[in-house]
Amino acid sequence: MTTAGHESRQYPAAMVNITNKCNLCCKHCFVFQGSNPTSTQNELSTEQLLERLSFLQKKHSIQTMLWMGGEPLLRPDVLEHRDQIIF
Ligand code: SF4
Repeated sequence: MTTAGHESRQYPAAMVNITNKCNLCCKHCFVFQGSNPTSTQNELSTEQLLERLSFLQKKHSIQTMLWMGGEPLLRPDVLEHRDQIIF
């Protein structure tokens, strides 16, 4: 997630890839393309991700977050703490 150039903007909604991990391999998917700059090896820890999402939610007054992937169900460690992101 990048925020460069958008420091003070308010966003009603955000689409967030909480993981690039996936148990499928669809041909059209960018997750498995070589140009994808995000490696699953570089994923944030549960605490880091929740802290960052909470910070950005408050900073940008985000009302709704759509958690995507990859396959977001492969991050149950994050999903089970979803109530920590207060809306
Ligand atoms: S992230 Fe979605 S589109 Fe990509 S391989 Fe997984 S299921 Fe398919």
